[in-house]
Order: sequence, then structure tokens, then C-alpha cells
Amino acid sequence: MKLIRFGAAGNEKPGVQLEDGRRLDVSSFGQDYDEDFFGVDGIDRLKAWLQTNQQSCQKLSQDVRLGAPLCRPSKIVCIGLNYAKHAQESGMAIPKEPVLFFKATSAIVGPNDDVVIPKGSTKTDWEVELAVVIGKKASHVSKSEAMNHVAGYVLHNDYSEREFQLEREGQWVKGKSCDTFAPIGPFIATKDEIPNPNNLNLWLSVNGEELQNSNTSDFVFDIATSISYISEFMTLLPGDIISTGTPFGVGLGFNPPRYLKPGDVVELGIEGLGSSRQKAKSYQV
Ligand code: ZN
Repeated sequence: MKLIRFGAAGNEKPGVQLEDGRRLDVSSFGQDYDEDFFGVDGIDRLKAWLQTNQQSCQKLSQDVRLGAPLCRPSKIVCIGLNYAKHAQESGMAIPKEPVLFFKATSAIVGPNDDVVIPKGSTKTDWEVELAVVIGKKASHVSKSEAMNHVAGYVLHNDYSEREFQLEREGQWVKGKSCDTFAPIGPFIATKDEIPNPNNLNLWLSVNGEELQNSNTSDFVFDIATSISYISEFMTLLPGDIISTGTPFGVGLGFNPPRYLKPGDVVELGIEGLGSSRQKAKSYQV
């Protein structure tokens, strides 16, 4: 099943996208895609509900605005330098254990919303990433148990301001958390739709020029390893997002580096998870 949310920003309603691409309003199911939904078998309950109620669901127009396909989660945990070639282009060593950082959940926007180049920014950069949505609370889970804690997968662009991230004091979080820096979607593909998340093609282009093109089989740490590792340090709650890192081809890695300017169009996609598109615009008060 593919979960979507649609409508005006801040007022999104839950929906589903069918196999043939049609989209349905499922707000009469009575629950949005939040911690409770994922944690209390919401995916199975919605599936069962659809079997008897699908005919009465309103069809959505194809140009409806999509929001992020889940309510704001308790956290976005990101893994850094999780593809060997990207670690290299960033001038950093391949990590011995997963590098973790947070991204503020206030950065979440819809998949096709504009990305705002932050106030004072000259180094806004892109990162296509496979994100995992947690389906069951995870604390100290083993690698072999880890995949039982996954609800599904979603496309994420982990926008990053490289000066804020790397040239200012302290941690990466400053360059990762600006408003609009986390376009998520178009949809969450439930786990059953993606038999092997550790072997998916992913790509990103800027103004039509393909700059990232790789496969999640190049992960330094695969998804089970990452979930198990993170759960040693914090409890993952249903609906939480783990963003699994980006491959080679970010703006920072070019010589000279390439960063976004207003009007640039970023498009990205992952096999089985659809595509998204953001237009860059300048910060305005
Ligand atoms: Zn990233």
C-alpha cells in the first residue's frame, strides 16, 4: 500500500495511492498517519477498512498538493557518510560505526514544495536519500529483529547548508534543520512493497542534469544494522524517520563546489518510491 497526505500545508488529510496511480481520500478512516497509527497496526487496519470502504472514498485530482505522507514524527535520525564514495568526496574517512545526527522535524515539507535557500546561505546543497519509517517501538533491538520494526520506506531530500554544517562551531544539525530542508514523499511504500531496500536505484538531477545516480547496495551500513545501532542510543518510536545517507554527487563534492541558486529545479527519485521536485527560492521575511 502507498500512503499519501494531501491538501493545504498544515491541514493535510490522509489518503492512499492505488496501483494504477489513482489517489483516494481516506480521511473517513478516522485516523491520520501518526505515532498511534503506525504503532497500533494502522497499516493492516487501513488495508482491511479499504476492502469494504474503497468505493465510497473520494477520488483526488492528480494535481492536488501532496504533503509529507506522515504527521510530524518525534525525530528524524540521519546517518552520515553511509556510502563510501560520498565519504571520499566529502574528504572524510569511511566511518567504523554509523555517524548519527538529527534533523529538526520542523524542516519537513511536502515532496514538491519549494525549498527555501536560508537567510545568509551561499552553500545550499542536495542529498537524495532512502528514508525508513519506524512501525514498532525499538530499543536495543538486534540486527536480526530490526526489520520487524519497519513500517515502510519513503523518498527524502536531506537538504544541507554546508557552511552552517561544516564551517560553523559544533554539530552538523545547524546545516540540516532549516525550514523546508526535509521534503518527504510522494508516498510511504509499506514494507511489503519493497522486498529488498538494500538494493534500490536512486538518482537526483538539478535543472535536468543528473548529478547523483547510485544504488543502496553501496551502503556502508545496511538498514538492519543501522536500526539496531541507533536503538542502542535512543528509543525509536512508531512514525520516526531514519534517513540512511546519500551517495556520491552532492554539490560539495564538485571542484569547484556547486550550490543552489533561486530558480534551480531539483528532481529526485528512488526505485519503487516515486519522485519529487523542488524549486529553490530565496529567503523572505
Ligand atoms: Zn544526508
